[in-house]
Amino acid sequence: MNPLAATNRYFKQAVRILGLDSKVERSLMIPFREIKVECTIPADNGTLLSFIGFRVQHDNARGPMKGGIRYHPQVDPDEVNALAQLMTWKTAVAHIPYGGAKGGIGCDPRELSTSELERLTRVFTQKIHDLIGVQTDVPAPDMGTNAQTMAWILDEYSKFHGHSPAVVTGKPLDLGGSLGREAATGRGVVYATEALLRDYGKNIADQTFVIQGFGNVGSWTASILHEQGGKVIAISDATGAIKNKDGIDVPRLVDYVKKTGGVKGFDGGLDIDPNSILVEPCDVLIPAAIGGVLTRENANDVQAKFVVEAANHPTDPDADEILGKKGVVVLPDIYANGGGVTVSYFEWVQNIQGFMWDEDKVNAELKKYMTRAYEDLKEMSKSKSCNYRMGAFCLGIGRVARATLLRGWEA
Ligand code: GLU
Repeated sequence: MNPLAATNRYFKQAVRILGLDSKVERSLMIPFREIKVECTIPADNGTLLSFIGFRVQHDNARGPMKGGIRYHPQVDPDEVNALAQLMTWKTAVAHIPYGGAKGGIGCDPRELSTSELERLTRVFTQKIHDLIGVQTDVPAPDMGTNAQTMAWILDEYSKFHGHSPAVVTGKPLDLGGSLGREAATGRGVVYATEALLRDYGKNIADQTFVIQGFGNVGSWTASILHEQGGKVIAISDATGAIKNKDGIDVPRLVDYVKKTGGVKGFDGGLDIDPNSILVEPCDVLIPAAIGGVLTRENANDVQAKFVVEAANHPTDPDADEILGKKGVVVLPDIYANGGGVTVSYFEWVQNIQGFMWDEDKVNAELKKYMTRAYEDLKEMSKSKSCNYRMGAFCLGIGRVARATLLRGWEA
């Protein structure tokens, strides 16, 4: 299913539950601004390479728009649009003073050299610099981008506007990044899982986990679960999938992947078919890669009791319904992976304050935000008699709608 159609279906369902006026509905659903730019760069071999970059700024009723920039061959305007909308609800669920945005460039970063990536990032920044800013729109890393990408954006932006560390988050520590930011999405996923399991009288140490994806989010989630005694029994990435029913030695796998570039061939487990990762028997399934992976084709075969969405929009609405009917409890993306943007907020606050927090403070505050959001989400789901996804959409949309109405529309 088209990611925008899927997101809008969840959105409209929540709007009905909340009983919002149709004009408010329209104003909340349609993005504030959509930017599309052409980026041409010289390749290392002297030929020209041309790419299309997007930035969708969805909503700013609650504060500056916020969201990552991804470099991926599948980046398309509808998906960026859906992801920008999800950021608006995500920042509202996390109760941080931001709106939502998302950007992307259709490219395969693994096929570009470091200097080509730098040129592409600088050209993209030149084309959008007057539309982003500390109080307007603050980019961050996403799939295919990292702290180095943010450093280039910061440097290019600062040529036009003066040194502005708070214009991007997820920066390297030496340029004003926050301790704990790199691990934050994964750590937040673990805090979310902990809160959910507690409600079911369970804890991380007595559960088995299967994780799809071993990039920033998947690898940190796996490492922190392992550290807390959780048994991670299967992991996949773009190269393959491995399984070990006694629990994968995650720190050793992290070292292996650093050396080889992927999980395939790791001797601490058996190679399995990556297509079966989502239907492996386990207690908690954590999709932590691309969107749209749980569909009506495979949802019936999911054997987990809990699905915690570390990826953005991994479950399409048909699959969501099937999982619900099967009694699988799904913790939705706009809550479960909100740890990344929450620590982005802490980074932005530290930049503005000109004061650096220690890592214990960052992690303790993150836990506070994730736990509070879980309680808010649970209460909303209970009061509207709906599942956690609808509870999260209602919570986020309700907060944004209130801010929008308070601001009014007088010209
Ligand atoms: N890209 C991350 C997300 O999807 C982080 C966004 C941010 O920190 O602004 O939530």
